[in-house]
Amino acid sequence: MRVGDDKIEEIRRSSDIVDVIAGFVQLKKRGKNYLGLCPFHQEKTPSFNVSPEKQMFHCFGCGVGGNVFTFIMEHEKVSFIEAVRTLSDRAGIPLPERGGDQGLAGENEGLYKACKTAGLRFYDNLVNSTEGQLGLEYLKHRGFSDATIRKFGLGYSRNAWNDIVEYAAGLKHDLAEYEKAGLIIKRDDGSSLYDRFRGRVMFPIFSPSGRPIGFGARKIREDDTVQGKYINSPETPIYSKSRNLYGLSHSKEAIRERGFAILVEGYADLISVFQAGIENIVASSGTALTVEQIQLISRYAKTIVLVYDADSAGSKATMRGVDLVIENGLDVKVAALPPGDDPDSFVRKKGGGEFTALIGQAVSFLEFKAESFVAEGLLKTPEGKTQAVRSLVEIIAKVRDEIKRNFYIKSIAEKYDIYESVLFRELEAVLRREHAPRTFLRPRGSADAPLRRGDDSPSPPVPPSPATLSAIERDLLKIMLEAGPDMVKFVFRHLTIDVFTHPLARQVAEILQRETGENRPWNVSLVVDRIEDPALKHFIADVTFTKYEISKEWQGVEEPDRWVVAEKSVLRALLRDIDRRIGENFAQLKSAQLRGESVGPFQAEHLRLEGEKKRVESTSLLDTKGE
Ligand code: ATP
Ligand code: MN
Repeated sequence: MRVGDDKIEEIRRSSDIVDVIAGFVQLKKRGKNYLGLCPFHQEKTPSFNVSPEKQMFHCFGCGVGGNVFTFIMEHEKVSFIEAVRTLSDRAGIPLPERGGDQGLAGENEGLYKACKTAGLRFYDNLVNSTEGQLGLEYLKHRGFSDATIRKFGLGYSRNAWNDIVEYAAGLKHDLAEYEKAGLIIKRDDGSSLYDRFRGRVMFPIFSPSGRPIGFGARKIREDDTVQGKYINSPETPIYSKSRNLYGLSHSKEAIRERGFAILVEGYADLISVFQAGIENIVASSGTALTVEQIQLISRYAKTIVLVYDADSAGSKATMRGVDLVIENGLDVKVAALPPGDDPDSFVRKKGGGEFTALIGQAVSFLEFKAESFVAEGLLKTPEGKTQAVRSLVEIIAKVRDEIKRNFYIKSIAEKYDIYESVLFRELEAVLRREHAPRTFLRPRGSADAPLRRGDDSPSPPVPPSPATLSAIERDLLKIMLEAGPDMVKFVFRHLTIDVFTHPLARQVAEILQRETGENRPWNVSLVVDRIEDPALKHFIADVTFTKYEISKEWQGVEEPDRWVVAEKSVLRALLRDIDRRIGENFAQLKSAQLRGESVGPFQAEHLRLEGEKKRVESTSLLDTKGE
């Protein structure tokens, strides 16, 4: 598929970068820019900047940056053209149908397509096939409405070995992509393929931006001999269990609005609660929370309310992730269900109103722990009390805000009649013991939880350090990128491309020269699209977002006059060049002297260069800018 530049420009204009990024990252206004926690690396203090004026983003922590298309490309791991498509969908701008131009397709595009195709097939099976009636009845029996089934894209996989295999082959799709997406499996004979999901109710798992990336498949048939109530998609390049939360694409707006996320375990739990009108909810799929999942939530809210069902083994796994939530600076509260209920059964019996009331009664994680010690009768014996105090203090020690920590100590002391001083002493001991650098990546003693960043996970690209970029080159690039073609003409009227010695700076300067030469209007966001290399995009974003360097007198001033900066930078570049030539000439003079040759010509040249330097120092370039 080829999308014209006009179309791309139209999509860009309709996709305000702040609006788009705010769908993924919590942003706060800071001066002219917006600031938030970088979604591309782990951080606790925000260094991720978005500029509405430049329509660019940049993280000072990890160096990623670019325009609105770059953001979608890197965030969703898709090609440029896929990013264009995502934003065109969002903006409601129709694009030509996806064509066969595979050359433009990103490497994961085929996987997304496979999941989407399979999801539609499963849905079609569910609502239109005779066999699918079984699935539909099951879902209806569980109380899911037609609208809910459609909203969550639920489906049914036929009880056959090759339904998806044949369906995809019929569409002339590449089956290798279906295999990579975990939908079909290669037999041991190495060539024939069969469906992974057979005769089950299908729950598509969506990426945060709402694309199907995997499936959970629930057993419903009595003749289903495959182990496990649920079979889930394996880890694939687009789906990682530890980096996704079920339901997030449906719930993120509500989470942002309500200021907290309700966390449940199961697919069915989430759907039931959502259907009852409580939409700020995500599901962990029965494993301990991971750092990545916590960060996903923290883009939208800073409080997680865990719905605890005492009977579920899953709840115990979720509980193990709680430490990590606290360590990452989020608040955790716990809402306990009556014994025998899970969120799904509770909501179906009692309705959304009572569920909301239950959530309203959630207590802090600490209180929840304390209550459970009381319930276990632990506080009745001195030994039990010591043990309980110790584990409570261990939780408090993970809270990074000192004021909050003190508050918790006081409340525990009061509530359970323990001397504050005892608690504080214990706290000090724990903090000292844990003083060794903390990673926040791996909680102690979690056996089965995949709590680390997978080795296969693409880490944020490391940009070549712009540290070696001289202030002159940085400022020259920055003003050209900010001010556009007129500025580029001004700069190159006085300087040659050789002024750029930093390799990336030179590449960017060459691109700007070329764009300007073609006499088309451009801006920085547009230039970014003409560049393939992500390192170069990051470099441009970095340059655009950093302060002017050589004009020290302007530090603190919001917006120095670009033309004045330009003049200063050009003059300094000229002076730098003269100084270089003076140095070279001086070296030649010295070696002539050593060889006993005449130094006259070098002395003359030295004087000439000194004179040129004086002239440059007293020059004003600004009257020439309008030519
Ligand atoms: P249901 O109500 O349909 O029985 P549930 O959603 O309540 O299912 P739980 O048994 O509470 O399921 O499990 C919670 C979640 O854990 C499931 O939604 C699923 O994501 C995951 N899970 C449960 N059992 C398995 C399994 N055998 N294999 C893989 N994942 C599982
Ligand atoms: Mn259930």
